[in-house]
Amino acid sequence: MLKKWISQVLACVMQVIKRTPAHAAADNVRYKVVFLNNVFAFSGIVSLSMGIIRWDLQPFIARVDIASAILAFGLLWTLYRYQKNIELLSSIALWICFTQFLAVFFMGIGTTTRSALLLLILAAAFYLKGRRTGYYMLATLMVLVISNHLSGVFPSEYSSLDILSLCLYLMAQFFIIRNYECLRELQTSHLKALNTDLEALVKQRTEQLAAANTALEVEKENLKTLSSTDHLTGLSNRHHFETVFTEHTQLTRRKISDALILIDIDHFKKINDTRGHVLGDIVIKAIASCIKKHTRISDIAVRWGGDELIIYAPRTTLKQATQLAEKVRHQIQAMHIAGVGSVTISAGVAVLQTGDNLAQLIQRADRALYQAKQAGRNSVSAAALS
Ligand code: GH3
Ligand code: MG
Repeated sequence: MLKKWISQVLACVMQVIKRTPAHAAADNVRYKVVFLNNVFAFSGIVSLSMGIIRWDLQPFIARVDIASAILAFGLLWTLYRYQKNIELLSSIALWICFTQFLAVFFMGIGTTTRSALLLLILAAAFYLKGRRTGYYMLATLMVLVISNHLSGVFPSEYSSLDILSLCLYLMAQFFIIRNYECLRELQTSHLKALNTDLEALVKQRTEQLAAANTALEVEKENLKTLSSTDHLTGLSNRHHFETVFTEHTQLTRRKISDALILIDIDHFKKINDTRGHVLGDIVIKAIASCIKKHTRISDIAVRWGGDELIIYAPRTTLKQATQLAEKVRHQIQAMHIAGVGSVTISAGVAVLQTGDNLAQLIQRADRALYQAKQAGRNSVSAAALS
């Protein structure tokens, strides 16, 4: 227990040589902690030594010294234990300094520590409680010293000249500290302002960067969509479908296979020739949006090329796909396109079989489409399952 206590005290004393304790968050708290750390540790050491030296010569003052030393070490320990009560500790420290000054200055005989103590109290008042308390303390101390000298309540070996020079030195030293502190405060506030500006700039740049990143992401998405979309119909283009088909068939191993419907507009050349290419484009667009409208979200609608379109329907049987093709055929036939009237389509349906690649699947759908065309157009034909 004693060993632990001694090691704790030693650790605290060792802190004195460190300029800043690791803890103590805010600037002003850290400042006070450093100051009190020094005051408590040094006044503890000095009081203890002086108490021992004076023990026989000045028994009363020696006991005050020893008591001060115990108090100082106790406060040092308290400082590290209860750092959040720094304000209370500061006040206690200031009062102790003041009391010690009263004891030593007025009751000590032949002591040479008086002016040093005076300065210590002034510094403590200034650093711990602010400039205003510093001024009050300076005034109080000077009034006490001068009035004691004039009244002679406590005997002193100082001459009037000594008192005058003591007061002048005290004032000079106090104002040196004060001016230095004002300069430091000015620099600190300047640095703080710079820091705030810098933080604002960093924040602004970060926001700009984030906005640029978002814009870039949007642009990237747009480019991706553009590269995968047919510009006339907005459906997937051939290249995109080929990629998706490869990825899709590599990933899935299903019992129910996927179906492909190959659609071709009937007599489209005639529409182009009689109504013009612009209306021809409108027809392709109208058919594409009709297909999009009547297919599921999981289906892929593709402009394969020219007047050929594809519906790729995952997990769909041949029968279901044929029904879908019939539904689409009816819907397209029922449409009225301004300037053209009614158009029809033919469709070939095929399902994906084991070992199929896209070319083979398309080939079977194309053969079925050919049959539909041969059957007089405006019809759906399904490729036989092998
Ligand atoms: P079929 O019933 O046998 O399919 O007869 P068809 O006249 O539709 O013949 P085919 O499908 O071979 O004709 C496709 C035509 O589509 C040929 C081409 O001029 C036209 N075409 C291809 N791409 C476009 C396009 O982007 N816009 C327009 N307006 N026409 C296109
Ligand atoms: Mg055609």
